[in-house]
Amino acid sequence: MKTQVAQKQWPILATLARYRQLASSKIIDNMRGNQCLLCLQPAQSRCLCSGCLGDLPWQERVCERCALPLPTTSAAKQCFDCQSAPPRWQSAQAVFHYQFPIDRLIAAFKYHHQLALTDLFAELMAAKLPPLPEHALIVPVPLHPDRLRERGYDQTYLLARAISRRSGLACDATSLKRTRDTAMQKNLHRDDRLSNLQGAFSCSGQRLCHRPIVLVDDVMTTGATLSVISDALLNQGAESVHTLVIARTLPA
Ligand SMILES: [Zn+2]
Ligand SMILES: [Zn+2]
Repeated sequence: MKTQVAQKQWPILATLARYRQLASSKIIDNMRGNQCLLCLQPAQSRCLCSGCLGDLPWQERVCERCALPLPTTSAAKQCFDCQSAPPRWQSAQAVFHYQFPIDRLIAAFKYHHQLALTDLFAELMAAKLPPLPEHALIVPVPLHPDRLRERGYDQTYLLARAISRRSGLACDATSLKRTRDTAMQKNLHRDDRLSNLQGAFSCSGQRLCHRPIVLVDDVMTTGATLSVISDALLNQGAESVHTLVIARTLPA
């Protein structure tokens, strides 16, 4: 499916030099106080100014099942692919398309300790939650213990906890575990990702049983990880799975 999302012009970050500066995270590392992470203008209480925030690649008309753009001519709420072969989860919500500069902000959040982004991302993600009963449970996609030791923090857990605080839904970061490191997923195609992920997650305990689960991750690329985890959660007795991510990768 050809995407309808136009590449936005970025007035302040238009030069390659500026792009490289941001890509190397030097500016992000050197930021002070309440400066906007993108344009360095005052950002009040947030880490982005309202101008840069408004210019981000926000999702608009997308499939409720996979969060990919719907054809402009279609009045359907789900894309053709989801209608013919529905994913294991019930709904997919993403705040942004995974494009510049969200890709850089997520990298800064994930690998460069820019944890000030937690509250902003959590606020935007919480606003995307579908209507759910009180007993719904927020579950973060777990990081492998080796990666946690390497990075020193688990950004998805931080997001899940902040979304839990905002929504009042409980957060469970112990029932789902990553039992195998699958860090090298990045360059694999969807089918290879799926086979690489077999047996990489396990669920335990009764807490997931008969509850709708909000499965939180930073980025959905092919959806293979979320699909494998959805299976594990449903096999453990979860009532349904709703995926919630910061950003969704557009099809190539
Ligand atoms: Zn700005
Ligand atoms: Zn779809």
